[in-house]
Amino acid sequence: MNPLQEKLAKIIDSERISTESDYLDELSWDALSEGRFHPRHRPELAAPLCAVTPLSTEEVQRLVGFANQEKLSIVPFGGGSGLMGGALSIRPGLVVDLRRMNRILHIDAESRSAQVQAGAVLETVDLALNEHGFILGHDPWTVPVATIGGAISTNSVGYRAGIYGSMGEQVLGLEAVMANGEVMRTRPVQKHSAGLNLNFLLIGGEGCFGIITEATIRIFPKPEARRFGGFLFASFEQGYGAIQQMFQRRLRPALLDFGDDAEKHDGALLYLVFEGNEELTTIEARQAAALCLSHGAKELPSSDAEEFWRERHEIARRFARNRRQRRERGRDGIYRDWIHVALPSSAVLAFRRAARQITERHGVRLQESGLWVQPELFSMRLAAEDGAVADAQLALEEAIEELLRMVQQMGGSMEYTHGVGVKLAPLMAEEHGYGLQVMRQIKQTLDPNNILNPGKMAL
Ligand SMILES: Cc1cc2nc3c(=O)[nH]c(=O)nc-3n(C[C@H](O)[C@H](O)[C@H](O)COP(=O)(O)OP(=O)(O)OC[C@H]3O[C@@H](n4cnc5c(N)ncnc54)[C@H](O)[C@@H]3O)c2cc1C
Repeated sequence: MNPLQEKLAKIIDSERISTESDYLDELSWDALSEGRFHPRHRPELAAPLCAVTPLSTEEVQRLVGFANQEKLSIVPFGGGSGLMGGALSIRPGLVVDLRRMNRILHIDAESRSAQVQAGAVLETVDLALNEHGFILGHDPWTVPVATIGGAISTNSVGYRAGIYGSMGEQVLGLEAVMANGEVMRTRPVQKHSAGLNLNFLLIGGEGCFGIITEATIRIFPKPEARRFGGFLFASFEQGYGAIQQMFQRRLRPALLDFGDDAEKHDGALLYLVFEGNEELTTIEARQAAALCLSHGAKELPSSDAEEFWRERHEIARRFARNRRQRRERGRDGIYRDWIHVALPSSAVLAFRRAARQITERHGVRLQESGLWVQPELFSMRLAAEDGAVADAQLALEEAIEELLRMVQQMGGSMEYTHGVGVKLAPLMAEEHGYGLQVMRQIKQTLDPNNILNPGKMAL
């Protein structure tokens, strides 16, 4: 045991303190791969000194107290599937692996809520809810990997967000250990008007303002019916028009996945899923189909959309099997990255047009434009190839920064689902203006020793 382990062993069972190199290596990275860093903003990485696996809120309190005493940083680690480097180890400190705080404490069918520990994996929670006739409303690609605490901390968005909202929108109440070791518990109610909603210190907080130990979340009755639809439009613009009208007419699909991936198909492909009440979903699906057809779409067999739905978590299972891929610096000399931005819907098509010019100027290929959940949530997949441009990784990341700045200038937000981490930290000042100073003042007041995940979110 090294001296740090010896000190830690006084407050936590030594079997749950580790300096084993493979384990520390696993906990030092999330899903931000080497190839997605902006070469000019790549932070220095630093291996964690030690990993600790708490089992209770009280143990997390002890660890936070210890970190304050020793002036050590603490990185909360959930599923490690964050894509922006929120859980990346950039200071030698402690990593708190929350995955054993994974109990489902209470399912309240009458109140349609569940109280769970923060390290519970989304899929495990969903399966437990299924046995009681409920589902978890949050359904990202990473359902088999991501944890409740990690998903809240990135305010993540999933396939069904169209009707259930982001993970943050499903939070009723939270329990969190704050930087001074105090436990904050917010009231798990549907709505309150009794001061600030302090859940929002932690929703999207990436572990910088507190460590979430428990959450009470909304749960939803298993849908009576699920209706699938697939439509092929001649162009992105044509499909966008149909989707806008769908929302104008208050049709709200649980899943909306739209994109123009030229490598897979001509035109732009839309998958829709309506779920819930038997009769209402039939009407909604029929009206949505009529609308798409009136905009010139070709209707695809519903089995296409069903297959898409069935396969939707496969990519995350692959990620879980091969976490080392995060170290990759561009496969076959090709660098790939993407943006997920929120824009006023009136600006989406103008942004997409401008993006073509920006990417061309940087020698970057725009592989796909897409929408997820609603017309305002717009994404692009981009790639740059060694040989086609002088420094492919630099060209790609410069193009991305220019695109994100443009989104900000158009009144949008640079990211709607994956958080900031280290990757987007350099753009936080433009994103928030004076708001970033407010965040820094809150951080300084609550965490004067700057122990909670320092260096993330530009804090
Ligand atoms: C293949 C793939 C597909 C993905 N698909 C989606 C998708 O569809 N939608 C989507 O939104 N995201 C997606 N992501 C991103 C990722 O799954 C989410 O960001 C996820 O919500 C993070 O959860 P996690 O438990 O893995 O958190 P981690 O990566 O462990 O942590 C994320 C951040 O939260 C902090 N944190 C973790 N636990 C706590 C806690 N208890 N208290 C306080 N802070 C904490 C960490 O320090 C870090 O800053 C995908 C990622 C991959 C690799």
